[in-house]
Amino acid sequence: MDRNEILAALKSKPEVSVLIVGGGINGIGTFRDLALNGVDVLLVERADFCSGASSASSHMAHGGIRYLENGEFRLVREAVQERNRMLQNAPHAVRPLPTTIPIFKRLSGVLNAPLKFLRLLDKPSERGSLIIKLGLILYDAYTGRQRTVPRHQFFSRRQSLEKWKHLNPEIVNTAVYYDGAILQPERLAIDLILDAESENTNARALNYVSMIGGSEDTLLLRDELTDETYDVRPKLLINAAGPWIDFTNKKLGLSTGFIGGTKGSHIVVKHDELLQAIGDHEFFFENEDGRIVLIFPLYDRVLIGTSDIPIENPDEALCTDEEIEYFLKLTRRIFPNLSLTRDDIVFQYSGVRPLPRSNAKTAGQISRDHSIEVLSGDWTNLHFPVYSLVGGKWTTFRAFSEQVTGKALSYLSLTRQKHTRDLPIGGGRGYPRSEDEMKSQIDSLSAWTGVTRERLQILFERYGTRAETIATYMNGGTDFILKSLPDYTLREIIFLAQHEKICHLDDFFLRRSMLAMLGRVTGEMVEEVSKALGNALGWDEERKTAEVARTFLLLTDRHGVRL
Ligand SMILES: Cc1cc2nc3c(=O)[nH]c(=O)nc-3n(C[C@H](O)[C@H](O)[C@H](O)COP(=O)(O)OP(=O)(O)OC[C@H]3O[C@@H](n4cnc5c(N)ncnc54)[C@H](O)[C@@H]3O)c2cc1C
Repeated sequence: MDRNEILAALKSKPEVSVLIVGGGINGIGTFRDLALNGVDVLLVERADFCSGASSASSHMAHGGIRYLENGEFRLVREAVQERNRMLQNAPHAVRPLPTTIPIFKRLSGVLNAPLKFLRLLDKPSERGSLIIKLGLILYDAYTGRQRTVPRHQFFSRRQSLEKWKHLNPEIVNTAVYYDGAILQPERLAIDLILDAESENTNARALNYVSMIGGSEDTLLLRDELTDETYDVRPKLLINAAGPWIDFTNKKLGLSTGFIGGTKGSHIVVKHDELLQAIGDHEFFFENEDGRIVLIFPLYDRVLIGTSDIPIENPDEALCTDEEIEYFLKLTRRIFPNLSLTRDDIVFQYSGVRPLPRSNAKTAGQISRDHSIEVLSGDWTNLHFPVYSLVGGKWTTFRAFSEQVTGKALSYLSLTRQKHTRDLPIGGGRGYPRSEDEMKSQIDSLSAWTGVTRERLQILFERYGTRAETIATYMNGGTDFILKSLPDYTLREIIFLAQHEKICHLDDFFLRRSMLAMLGRVTGEMVEEVSKALGNALGWDEERKTAEVARTFLLLTDRHGVRL
């Protein structure tokens, strides 16, 4: 069903078993799991899917080695296992990520770690080699028999400086361990939605639809594209609004204080020397102020982040000049010879972690674990319970969704029929496990669809094995390479418009592709894609012009892009 059909069906039948409000990774993960288990479920997202916290991550599928010192052993164990599952189930979107920790002290932190564990230390402190070694041993132990990534290694100062030519010579050691890189998180989320909808025709996901209020047995939705409103009558409401959870509960007259969000920003830089200096390694380290920060290879760019600043209103999260200065400085600390300036920045972004409200003395000490807060009973003025999904990480979305789905199924008196633990996601299904396998898949696909090997290689990198469906579509009509965007063809854009729930032009640049984040967008490209997408979506000239203006404004104002 397309968007209009879903909305029309809702008008004639507003009853649904589960309504999920919020199309970030936690809402989407739960949507998929409920769909797989045969539940009729509607997900509404007030903007585009994955445009909140889920679009602002550091792109790491990680166990969170740092959380060990906060005593969050359960979380780290779960996150390491989930990282391994992501690597297995979504190999097209999540890759092993060698991670180097440059270490500046040997013994520091040995006394502080137990104090932190007991919550007696109120400021971050430097971690030396010994404490990092202990953390990595534990981290490896959690990987257990699921040996999806190699064990950690320690290198002396001499070995480290030989390998990393530009590294600050003040280091005493480096350690290397493995995590995962979620290369295109927003695309992975779309894969999950499409999987869910193809599995269950009673699972429907709508972007640009807000939940704006409700009482008793009825909630009110508003289509943000037309302003039209819709009633919906669920048996259960799942509030997956991330940092906006309390704002969303408030719309229903529920006063909650579940979230104490912290803002985190990133910059993406185009700097070939820095990229060469890090190679394919993420540098994950402690900055002078004790915060853990990262320098991360993202395709042919470098991602640098992040901050951790308490914030009340998530709508106000923007990457500030002060944060940018902080990112440039932390990079100079690790690679003092490389000159990185503001001119090298091609994209910047900011988002709010939906952390549980806490009395922790520093942002770093707030738990990164997840929980379900249940509101029900007469005092709520609602005839159905509300589950608020507090916390959670990209890495642990599947486990959190499984927990929420289990609870929802039992509330609906249903039993689980399918599990997601070993279930491949989207273009990760049947994904080649070696270069040779990839080559032979591409060769046979090229013979079958008539699409060139070079183009198929691009499609595989972008969509995994969904490349087959897209290439078949491309071959079904007159196609040509876009002038301002030779990486894409017209029919690929039309396919995305028709199958990936694109409503605005910026959905394509920011979330269905990596073009904006990698700083590749040009004015000419925005104009050309607006025509291709607009024609596919039936936009008139006025709408195309408005979409171009909206995209320019978003890219320049929110993301610091120079067009
Ligand atoms: C700076 C930063 C770095 C991070 N790095 C990592 C990392 O490297 N690895 C990792 O695993 N995790 C990371 N995380 C954590 C992870 O990104 C988040 O915890 C996760 O994305 C939260 O997802 P969510 O679905 O709960 O919230 P969101 O993604 O914010 O989704 C909530 C959605 O609800 C929608 N919404 C709000 N109100 C309404 C309404 N009334 N009606 C309809 N829709 C509504 C919003 O538009 C939003 O899209 C990071 C987070 C941040 C901010």
